Amino acid sequence: MFENLTDRLESVFKKLRGQGVLTEENIQEAMHDVRTALLEADVNLGVVRDFVSKVTAKAVGQDVLDSLSPGQQVIKVVHDELVRLLGSEAQPLKLNGPQPVVIMMAGLQGSGKTTTSAKLARLLKGRERRPLLVPADVYRPAAIEQLHVLGEQIGVPVFPSAAEQNPVDIARAAVASAREKGQDTVILDTAGRLHIDQELMAELKAIAGAVSPAEVLFVADAMTGQDAVTVAGAFNTELPLTGVVLTKMEGDARGGAALSIKSVTGKPIKFVGMGEAMDALDVFHPDRVASRILGMGDVLSLIEKAEAVVDQKKAEKLAKKIQKNTFSLDDFLDQIQQIKRMGSLEQIMGMIPGINKLKQLQNAPKPDAKQLARTEAIIKSMTMKERNNHRIIDASRRQRIAKGSGTTVAEVNQVLKSFAMMLKMMRQMKEKGILAGAKHRKV
Ligand code: GDP
Repeated sequence: MFENLTDRLESVFKKLRGQGVLTEENIQEAMHDVRTALLEADVNLGVVRDFVSKVTAKAVGQDVLDSLSPGQQVIKVVHDELVRLLGSEAQPLKLNGPQPVVIMMAGLQGSGKTTTSAKLARLLKGRERRPLLVPADVYRPAAIEQLHVLGEQIGVPVFPSAAEQNPVDIARAAVASAREKGQDTVILDTAGRLHIDQELMAELKAIAGAVSPAEVLFVADAMTGQDAVTVAGAFNTELPLTGVVLTKMEGDARGGAALSIKSVTGKPIKFVGMGEAMDALDVFHPDRVASRILGMGDVLSLIEKAEAVVDQKKAEKLAKKIQKNTFSLDDFLDQIQQIKRMGSLEQIMGMIPGINKLKQLQNAPKPDAKQLARTEAIIKSMTMKERNNHRIIDASRRQRIAKGSGTTVAEVNQVLKSFAMMLKMMRQMKEKGILAGAKHRKV
């Protein structure tokens, strides 16, 4: 996401960096380029105008900070304004009201309501809440079925509703049922239409009136850019929206919807959908996203993702294995699987500072998910005995492994070679004391 904008802004700042002093003239020139970059990113025109005038006023009027170069000062002003534009601080869901709390999803058909309802249920389940998913899209029986399938997949109960029922009745009955069963969060997946229509709005208003949701989340497809913003505006005048979820953000290189929607509706983006998988829902952090847009990476999210998947006990066991030289191919496989659980490699790379610049270099390392998957398949085709002692893997075993994993002997050789190199590096690091065990570490 935001790749194009990042590229454009980087070249603006590069030009500024080359200048020793910051004059009103070169600020104006830079702001002209920023304006073009934002418009090309499909940001709402009014939002762009306001943004540029605020940044110009701040950049021209500010005291010169000794610690920052002129270029850096402008970047800082742009960064701060971007954070403000994106909503300042991450806005958590309001879940503390009378239980069960109701979260109502609203949006056009195909925006990702059903998928996001299930993703949200999964996320809340992970936070020790007891969600109930409620399909209230009675016009599309397939939507009801879809939610049942997803609920099953993530282990969250789905309220039994039928296409003949009235959505308001479904919502009421679901809340009563949740109260009875001690489920504390009711997630209502409502119907959508292809376009905004009064009948739909009336139905959504009636549902909201009947069950007083603590959250009414507007779900929009980020790829639709300014259309998403226009529709958000229309929903916002009719419904008591509390926040926005932008889906399909992983494919939105421009970012126009994300940069406009808060300013236009006054409602914060609370989550972003980053893929079709159930774990592809991220809390939206304006400051981190602003850093990403400016090519500074998002180290905090990267650390959080790593922490979420790295099993501390496993990590300690691994350290011991490295100490005792018993790190095996099976442990290697485990490492690969942990990396995969962090998300797609493209996504992880996007969070690393400066990676956008690196991507422009020829021969720069590219994230290669296929390579990782092949390595995984190769190790999985080995017997436990082989995984625990790679030295026994002779020519005929290599042939069998290649066949079993659908790869070639050359690829099996490459994995074994990389593994041997890894062992060698571990030994060297240990000898230099870099991988010393906890008892050697100075506190
Ligand atoms: P609804 O009509 O609003 O309920 O939309 P759905 O939940 O059925 O989603 C429509 C399509 O968008 C489905 O194919 C989803 O898998 C897909 N989708 C939803 N969220 C995302 C996302 O964050 N990224 C991507 N790539 N696809 C998504």
